[in-house]
Amino acid sequence: MKPVARQLSREALRDRCREAGLSLTHQRLVIYEELMAMGEHPSPEALYERVRKQIPSLSLATVYNNIKTFVEHGLVREMSIHHGSLRLENNPNPHHHLVCTRCKAIEDLAEDNFEPIRFKKSIPKGFAVHRFSVEVLGLCKRCSSSSKS
Ligand SMILES: [Zn+2]
Ligand SMILES: [Zn+2]
Repeated sequence: MKPVARQLSREALRDRCREAGLSLTHQRLVIYEELMAMGEHPSPEALYERVRKQIPSLSLATVYNNIKTFVEHGLVREMSIHHGSLRLENNPNPHHHLVCTRCKAIEDLAEDNFEPIRFKKSIPKGFAVHRFSVEVLGLCKRCSSSSKS
């Protein structure tokens, strides 16, 4: 399985914010950099724990507010809520997901693991398609090996 490319330099992160029309305060930049440096699909709480080490005065509410701003400007995405709690998509590249139904781990799966996805039949009129996102549900390596023993 090919890992999904995700490295963005500090400059690239700043450029993305600027292109999205976001004013960059020091605090916002720290939050965004930490978010992008974290592993796949972090929770806002985990992000808060990391950012707080750099800005101890920061509140969880501020982190949530900034996440909301990032989402509104298309810099990160919220993942569907059925994963148990809010999780953030910090990988800007198109990809799909492997979702563990037991421990809720979400792993990125490169787009080219699939044939290009096309509709076989027409979909209801009026729906504007933006992208495809496939979720493969199952048990992760850890969960499937622990269920055997
Ligand atoms: Zn699992
Ligand atoms: Zn992802």
